[in-house]
Amino acid sequence: MQGLYVGIDLGTTFSLAAIIQDGRPLIIENAIGETLTPSVVSEDEDGSILIGAAALARTTTHPQTTAATFKREMGTSASFQVGGRRLRPEELSALVLRKLAEDVEARTGMTITEAVVTVPAYFGEAQRRATRDACALAGLTVERVINEPTAAALAYGLNHYEEDQRVIVLDLGGGTFDVSVLEILEGVIEIQGSAGDTRLGGEDFVNALVEELAPEVRAARGLVAEEPRQRAQLRAACERLKRELSEAERAPLYLPATDSAKAFERVVSREEAEAWWEPLVVRLRSPIRAALADAGVSPEEIDVALLVGGATRMPVFRRLAASLFGGRVRHELPPDEAVAMGAAVQAALKADQKDVQDLVVTDIAPFTMGISVQRRVGHRDLQGVFSPIIERGTVLPASREDEFYTIDDDQRSLLLEVYQGENTMCRDNHRLGHYSLDNLPPAKSGEVPIRVRFTYDLNGMLEVEATVGAHGRHGERVETFVVEREPGVMTPEQIKRARAAMARVKFHPRDALPNRVAIERAEELHTRLLGDARGYLRAQIVDFRGALESQDIPRISGQREELIALCRYLAEATNT
Ligand code: AMP
Repeated sequence: MQGLYVGIDLGTTFSLAAIIQDGRPLIIENAIGETLTPSVVSEDEDGSILIGAAALARTTTHPQTTAATFKREMGTSASFQVGGRRLRPEELSALVLRKLAEDVEARTGMTITEAVVTVPAYFGEAQRRATRDACALAGLTVERVINEPTAAALAYGLNHYEEDQRVIVLDLGGGTFDVSVLEILEGVIEIQGSAGDTRLGGEDFVNALVEELAPEVRAARGLVAEEPRQRAQLRAACERLKRELSEAERAPLYLPATDSAKAFERVVSREEAEAWWEPLVVRLRSPIRAALADAGVSPEEIDVALLVGGATRMPVFRRLAASLFGGRVRHELPPDEAVAMGAAVQAALKADQKDVQDLVVTDIAPFTMGISVQRRVGHRDLQGVFSPIIERGTVLPASREDEFYTIDDDQRSLLLEVYQGENTMCRDNHRLGHYSLDNLPPAKSGEVPIRVRFTYDLNGMLEVEATVGAHGRHGERVETFVVEREPGVMTPEQIKRARAAMARVKFHPRDALPNRVAIERAEELHTRLLGDARGYLRAQIVDFRGALESQDIPRISGQREELIALCRYLAEATNT
């Protein structure tokens, strides 16, 4: 039987999956017919788990039982309270991955054989491991974890060009801005430089609108200070305003009256908004400069600039890109879908599907990796000096070796401490793990050579091999270890237990999901409406709940469509 190979973009705000069909990437719709599945997990009143749109709608109505933006915490020991459960970022990501996988299987009627999952280029060892752990928890066989910009280049088919290409990928998502410079040479893709700002994204453009407009809104609505609900109302209106200003020169900001505030209406021009965004636009420039510098190229040397991430739709962003890269900017693919499409291309490639041209994808080590050593400076011994073994930018897979010596007479053991980072001192870098080499042969200082070999594979797994050199009657001895897991990253035993626990989690039945999403969205809208509009909606929700009790399928779907139509009408009519 032919296998099903899927590419997954596991995003901070949204995730999505794609497959290759007839030689082209195809984004798969989820159970409710949408392509973007919010990376949000929530727990229901009866203890079952909701993932995606139904969970996102509950972020305002049930914040204490809902978790979002957990991708930011991958590879750390953070955890999130979701109702009665405390879940790690890997477990939450696994729930999203599993949901995407189920949707793909339901749409295609096939079982997934293998998946390719994307991660940001700046993800370090621990974050990549945590991503793989999430895949294992979701029961997915993950062939490769690839970098998001590499996937974007694959989606644009840049690997098929005859000539060498130098590409810059500008990825402005909801919460981060990632810039990578790639070189594509005879179908081989290499990342030459990357930089980013993990605290700058589309959300900040919304926040800037909120900050600018809040005082005026407060004064006009007769409020001393906003309640959280009014703040959420203003935020939602500003998100809509931002998107509308991507299409039109002017757009309305409208806030309907609530029990404690008057209605507010005002038109905002793109020019006004762009003036408020100026400081953010200035900040966008520095990661672009840094990535170009990291790759050692000037903007003129870039052949293609790819715009990826939903927020690159903003005209102010497109102008910035055009000012640097002129007519070499490309944005034909939907910016939120390009990465998943590229992951599918890679998955199909891996599966050796005939309809995808051959290519090799290489990646680079995102950070320098090395060990801690002691160095003599004048008469003093300086501890904790970082001695790099695999330099940042080394093409992967890579295996590099360096030789070290014992420092004391009769030194019988040595602590190998593995670090990642770019600073000269280990204390300023990030510790990945350690290993104690014991039973060294007795000898004078500097007489026992220890060769340390780092082998780093395409999935970001670091294996360390230490060879203790021969001395006297002691022969050569080799010890190997995979860098110890970070605190916060799961052990195989923990993964086994978490998988078993996940198998017991009660999920909402798939066929009932559209009903559930309709209810959660309607309830969320209900919290924001007032007066007659609220009354109509309440009546319709009650009718729909009644229909659900009846188990009468045609009646349920009829009522659901009516509820969805009413929500759409009321949201538009009240601009909520
Ligand atoms: P992503 O993480 O790639 O899905 O990006 C999501 C970000 O893109 C959010 O901040 C959205 O507000 C933003 N976004 C999506 N569509 C638009 C649009 N038409 N105009 C401006 N920003 C948008």
